[in-house]
Amino acid sequence: MTYLQQLSKAQWTWLLGTLAAGVAIVAAGWIAESPLDRTSATAPTTAMSIREIAPELDVTGKSLARELGLPLDAPKGKPLRKLAVSQDDLDHVVAHLLGHRPANLKYYVFAAIVLWGLVFLTRLGRPDGAPNAERKTWYPRMAYLLALVVAVAVCGFALGKSPNPMEGVVKVVKSMVGLYPSVWDKVVALLFFLGLAIVGNKLICGWACPFGAVQELLYSLPFFKQIKRRKVPFVLSNTVRTLLFATVLLLLFGIVGGQKGFVLYHFLNPFNLFGLDFEHGAIAVTTVVVLLLALLTYRPFCQFICPFGLVSWLAERLSLARVRVDASRCNGCGTCVRACPTDAAKHVLAGRWFAADCYSCARCLNVCSQEAIRYGSAFARGGVEAEARNSDRQRHTPDALADA
Ligand code: SF4
Ligand code: SF4
Repeated sequence: MTYLQQLSKAQWTWLLGTLAAGVAIVAAGWIAESPLDRTSATAPTTAMSIREIAPELDVTGKSLARELGLPLDAPKGKPLRKLAVSQDDLDHVVAHLLGHRPANLKYYVFAAIVLWGLVFLTRLGRPDGAPNAERKTWYPRMAYLLALVVAVAVCGFALGKSPNPMEGVVKVVKSMVGLYPSVWDKVVALLFFLGLAIVGNKLICGWACPFGAVQELLYSLPFFKQIKRRKVPFVLSNTVRTLLFATVLLLLFGIVGGQKGFVLYHFLNPFNLFGLDFEHGAIAVTTVVVLLLALLTYRPFCQFICPFGLVSWLAERLSLARVRVDASRCNGCGTCVRACPTDAAKHVLAGRWFAADCYSCARCLNVCSQEAIRYGSAFARGGVEAEARNSDRQRHTPDALADA
């Protein structure tokens, strides 16, 4: 039987209800989006000063000065032409900063995709009452791949680079050195993304982030299978990601380099791909290198660079729904560990509190012959308690897991 034929009536209700809710959420976003949100009231000229232009672009004078290549303490009341800024340079900076204005509709699309991912993983992926022998038809990849395509097409190319989860973190830290007029709207945006990361384990990254989706789609191509079996050790990727974040903060606050307001992530931001706005050569290089690496290894940008990847990895301890393993059923064969593109499944089985990032990709959910692995509420009974799981691992076959 096909997957759809196996769905129960209740699951059909969930499926149709979720699709209807997704359309309603996006429609609400469409109605709420003001057409004025993304346009500038006036076209700035070099006869205007930083003080006059910056509020139009929702940045502070310091931030605009930095974008124009001026010192942060450049005079804010002088016409820009007296500061040797050309109209061409100003137009370029204005276009770049307008690209960072959030398309508010995108928040709604993110929410709709995450809702779909959550319902698919918790209610729809596994048909009610279907025998384990049919498990290869569960969690059909097409449902996931379609969500990824929507994420790239709509949350990426159609609606531009902003907002995105990485920017959610970067704008908060930039606000802390005065590069935005207010920190609170940036904090609210970051909390929104974190909420979508904990409603289901990193669902915003796994299902809705446009650059995460590009990498996931590239990794899903059926090339280089032998190479892809080699996983990046989590301790390595997380150490690099953490050290990079610490370096960014040291540079941003001027503790290192003495140039307060320097944002290293600006040179590594592949979300510019969605605005085709590669303002620095380093951005183009980062993007191309990451896209090539994504063919060979799982989500290299997420694992090694992205600050939201790091912050949401910490936040995923609070996830309300996640991959869970029933220790009383698990025989320690390591099949799910081999199916997982990261160290996440291995760490979940080992009961690690700070397990590697799990992107809710569902690869591990239809491989278990013991029906021991599920995606469900973190509070439901039947999942593995760490202690039980650890003792179970020792009793079963630690070698199989170590080898996986
Ligand atoms: S970790 Fe990856 S998926 Fe998550 S926000 Fe960063 S780029 Fe997107
Ligand atoms: S395969 Fe790994 S990353 Fe994907 S859902 Fe399972 S544990 Fe998470």
